[in-house]
Amino acid sequence: MNIAIIGAGAAGCFAAANIDLKKHYVQLFEKTHRALQKVRISGGGRCNLTHHCFDVDTLTKSYPRGARLMRKTLYRFGPADTIEWFNSRGVATYAEKDGRVFPASNSSQSIVDCLLKPIHRHIQYQKELIELTHKDQQFKLLFSDHTSFVADKVLIASGGFQKPSQYKWLQALGHSFENPVPSLFTFHIQQSELTHLKGISIPQVTLRMAGTSIMQSGPILITHQGLSGPSVLRLSAWAARESHQRNYHFDILINWLGDATETDVRNILKANRQSSGKQQVSHHNPFQLPRRFWDYILHAIDMPPATKWGEMPALHQNRMVEKLIRDVYSVAGKNTFKEEFVTCGGIKIKEIDPESMQSRIIKGLFFAGEIMDVDGLTGGFNFQHAWSSGWIAAQGIQYTP
Ligand SMILES: Cc1cc2nc3c(=O)[nH]c(=O)nc-3n(C[C@H](O)[C@H](O)[C@H](O)COP(=O)(O)OP(=O)(O)OC[C@H]3O[C@@H](n4cnc5c(N)ncnc54)[C@H](O)[C@@H]3O)c2cc1C
Repeated sequence: MNIAIIGAGAAGCFAAANIDLKKHYVQLFEKTHRALQKVRISGGGRCNLTHHCFDVDTLTKSYPRGARLMRKTLYRFGPADTIEWFNSRGVATYAEKDGRVFPASNSSQSIVDCLLKPIHRHIQYQKELIELTHKDQQFKLLFSDHTSFVADKVLIASGGFQKPSQYKWLQALGHSFENPVPSLFTFHIQQSELTHLKGISIPQVTLRMAGTSIMQSGPILITHQGLSGPSVLRLSAWAARESHQRNYHFDILINWLGDATETDVRNILKANRQSSGKQQVSHHNPFQLPRRFWDYILHAIDMPPATKWGEMPALHQNRMVEKLIRDVYSVAGKNTFKEEFVTCGGIKIKEIDPESMQSRIIKGLFFAGEIMDVDGLTGGFNFQHAWSSGWIAAQGIQYTP
């Protein structure tokens, strides 16, 4: 069988490495001069290859798009299989406390070397596919250098496309796509009172996109450009489409105390008025917030500097409650997070059979990785999708009649 794989990224290389290369004639076509470029730079050069979680229900919660497909693919090839696959080929791995899995070498090069070892002779570089046609159960591939290739089966593993025009050759075959928009970004905020607090992180906040019910909780980091950290990245992923519709200009509501309610905060204020009435509010912070951040809150609510807990006016108590649990900021654009991003959108999942990754429209055509409308949060979930779909596609290509 002649098998063509489009794209020598994570999904394409993993699929190739799981095909019997002695039995089939496999060629990977890569438009750049380098394979696995994103793997190389991922995780700050360490490659966060998967997530240390083996419960499929829990794992699927980390996929804003494609959770239903992931439920099926993770059962067949999940994080434990990924770890075993690399371990059995000499790449030891370890998990950090937050669940992110890295190679023990702390270098993405170990992953690159392991993947390329069996397949490097099968990769053709600077081959950009520009047209794909299907006739008489065969595919004809046309490249930008005017060369062509004929294949019995084709795997599309070309990653996330950022412009709708890039899907043209797949549309020509009858496929459709969800509009691509970026996911995983940080929020640009111009309010300098906040950005002056750069470097401060708060371990548990809740964020909500105003006018929607999209909420996320977790740590937050204040940067010189606005807000970052796990809760922000998660919100950016779950609200990827809504943010795009608003041209990345919207309000966010922040509960700086995680899930504390107004009653909780009022009870804490009351307890402090009683127990610490003679202490200055600025010297005694009952919410375990960083010192500079507490000063910022007091300044924002115009608390007179020497106010004691026992003398705090009702007006300031009300303002403090609002500021702590219903603070509002205007997002004015997005920033990248360590250059990491994924595409929300891609080939519609209903057009792909999750048992084999074969197209439901064209027999012999397969998909793997970010080209399809599946994307995950940060933490190794995106590579896991590339491995899961790449592995299933490799089986589908070899064993689907
Ligand atoms: C900076 C950065 C860091 C990241 N870090 C992590 C991380 O630590 N953990 C994690 O889980 N995820 C991470 N991600 C996300 C992850 O890299 C992607 O989800 C994953 O690489 C997708 O794999 P893929 O094979 O589908 O696509 P890609 O890895 O993008 O590979 C697609 C390949 O196809 C080629 N190609 C495209 N079009 C054509 C064409 N027409 N003809 C021929 N070739 C073509 C491209 O050049 C590319 O080599 C990161 C992303 C970025 C940008």
